[in-house]
Amino acid sequence: MAVASITFIQARNYTKGRSNPIDVLVIHTMEAPEKPETAENVAKWFAGSTAPQASAHYCIDNNSIVQSVKDTDVAWHAPGANHNGIGFEHAGFSAQRAADWSDAYSDQMLRLSAGLVAEKAREHGIPAVWLREADLLAGRRGITGHVQVSRAFKKSTHTDPGSSFPIERYLGYVKEHLGSQPEPHAHPHSVKAPPAMLKSGAKGALVTRLQKLLKQRGFDPGAADGDFGPSTAKAVKEAQKSHGLNADGIVGPMTWHALESSA
Ligand SMILES: [Zn+2]
Repeated sequence: MAVASITFIQARNYTKGRSNPIDVLVIHTMEAPEKPETAENVAKWFAGSTAPQASAHYCIDNNSIVQSVKDTDVAWHAPGANHNGIGFEHAGFSAQRAADWSDAYSDQMLRLSAGLVAEKAREHGIPAVWLREADLLAGRRGITGHVQVSRAFKKSTHTDPGSSFPIERYLGYVKEHLGSQPEPHAHPHSVKAPPAMLKSGAKGALVTRLQKLLKQRGFDPGAADGDFGPSTAKAVKEAQKSHGLNADGIVGPMTWHALESSA
């Protein structure tokens, strides 16, 4: 595999455990210079006594990857997509121009990063597509930038990795890694919507989508606030009952299908 070895240095600030499936792989820049030790230095900063109220799963430079938060824990990198995302930090700045993203350092780093991101895409059945704001709001699964998450959910003002991040080239590298392998296997929450299993306690854009669908179909989930609470559970059970499904309140493929296909 492309990613030989990854050092682990636990970040200080993160949330232990996660209850949602991973839907989005979020690309960041560290706003730190392109140096061989940048990944190590930022990971040490995340872990140290002066750690920011932030963290990411992986810090990547041109010659190494340092993991700061386990995939099974929630890192604080892109509010709005933390609960269902993995964060990838890169050396460099969001203000970089296209030429800066094409220098030897950047190219090495993007190829290294693409190998890791391809691994995660395969592991979680996430398609190698770039998500825009509307895609995120629609609950689609894929790869995106912190800036898209900021614009979609308005919980952060960060604009990394910047307007010149080479999206097509990067996706090309990810696809090269995926290409030598079979397609991501069909996952219950894979590729085409309707995706994830949702149940009480789930949060996020997919829950909002579910709540809007329920309302359109004449069931009352309460506010479309992205929070799967008791009234949403009640509405799901009523919808399931009306479609002759097991009224367990858990939204799996059958329930999504019933909700999306009923007029
Ligand atoms: Zn960021």
